[in-house]
Amino acid sequence: MSFQNLTIQQIRKKLIAGELTSVALTRACLERIQATNHQLNTFITVCEKEALAAAEAADEQLAAGNAALLTGLPIALKDIFNTLNVRTTCGSKLLDNYISPYDATAVQRLREQGAVIVGKLNMDEFAMGSSNENSAAGAVRNPWNSDHVPGGSSGGSAAAVAAGQVVATLGTDTGGSIRQPASHCGVVGLKPTYGRVSRYGVIAYASSLDQVGPLARNVEDCATMLGVVAGYDPADSTSVDCPVPDYLENLAAGVSGKKIGLPKEYFIDGLDAAVKQAITAAIETYRQLGAEIVDVSLPHTDYSVASYYLIATAEASSNLARYDGVRFGVRKDEGAGLISMYQQTRAAGFGDEVKRRIMLGTYALSSGYYDAYYLKAQKVRTLIRQDFLEAFEKVDLLLTPVAPTPAFKLGEMINDPLQMYLSDIFTIPANLAGTCAISLPCGFSQEGLPIGLQLIGQPFAEADLLQAAYAFEQATDWGGRSPELS
Ligand code: GLN
Repeated sequence: MSFQNLTIQQIRKKLIAGELTSVALTRACLERIQATNHQLNTFITVCEKEALAAAEAADEQLAAGNAALLTGLPIALKDIFNTLNVRTTCGSKLLDNYISPYDATAVQRLREQGAVIVGKLNMDEFAMGSSNENSAAGAVRNPWNSDHVPGGSSGGSAAAVAAGQVVATLGTDTGGSIRQPASHCGVVGLKPTYGRVSRYGVIAYASSLDQVGPLARNVEDCATMLGVVAGYDPADSTSVDCPVPDYLENLAAGVSGKKIGLPKEYFIDGLDAAVKQAITAAIETYRQLGAEIVDVSLPHTDYSVASYYLIATAEASSNLARYDGVRFGVRKDEGAGLISMYQQTRAAGFGDEVKRRIMLGTYALSSGYYDAYYLKAQKVRTLIRQDFLEAFEKVDLLLTPVAPTPAFKLGEMINDPLQMYLSDIFTIPANLAGTCAISLPCGFSQEGLPIGLQLIGQPFAEADLLQAAYAFEQATDWGGRSPELS
């Protein structure tokens, strides 16, 4: 049974009409996971029993005529979401044995709308990475070519959608972790505005940047998923109390008369030829759809990678201080006292990249350096945000590549962290500015690897973003393709 050519709304109609049961759909996902996980390594935990029980309950709800927005739909979560009574490792050895005593708000909202939670997806440890190679559960492979990375840190979330293992997934995006893997795996990924979706129960990486969002096969499914998880949550003090529109309502509004800005700093020499070609064609498509294309400048773009890697590591060093072997996860203790227990636990529990970032961040926050690094980076961040706000006085949306190249090979950058950090250049600024952005398929390289297009919207204008993405998706046939898995 394949659901891969159907949208969530179409599956939902079949479920409501009784043409399909949630149990059959969930079984099909579980079988697909079983058949492909050895190749992709997308799932850290599969919740087979729980998923089938939830599917049975969903079928009862459907039979009783009580369909909520996601009743019976199999969905999986990046392993960063606390999930009641389910192992939640965040891709780390340190949380290898951690079973969450509660659901993150986003998970709770999915459940309230009847979603069937199928399992927990692989990711870079503590969401630090761009390739999903930094995972205690091992690397994830790109479903389009298993020699290549799926992107990161939500690599499992993107690859699982591309491979048809589940209908949709949730990821998190601190500096590109939804958009870049979506781009590398040929699916749609949306990073909402900072404050749009509650992070309560989401394991923190860099709190002033982290945001939760959907990855799905198409724009409409992203709109459906966002509608479910978005909205104010008193349990997250950064969540914003502003109304959530019906994202499906005007999805087909088109882009006629919309002004789309091309930031000149994003069209650099280092851009891969295939990426450049796909983006140029996308610009032409938008022109034909009636959008006005305008050149703009975001002059502080060059400073974004440097300020991001100071702010993100500084906040990470503070957030990760809680993993001391006392309250969560694994403890290593040879009985030589408390300090030694902390040291052993952290030395054994964290991977190399996480340690590198904790050291970097601790250094940046240390007395005497705080003003020179963290404070300075925050000031630069304000300039970057102002660049965006000024650009949005002239245009409705910005159009850019998601990443400078298609998915690179496994092992290609892992020993060169700086190079890996630099590849985040196009996704990081939207996080620093706190605004929303979407990644959607816009082409393929000669080797058959997907290429993504990024649209960046004004704060809280996710509806505009989805409309523009939908218009492109309808006008082209890059989306919704499926890789052939052996
Ligand atoms: N690649 C970036 C980093 O390693 C972004 C990660 C993310 O968005 N979680 O920090």
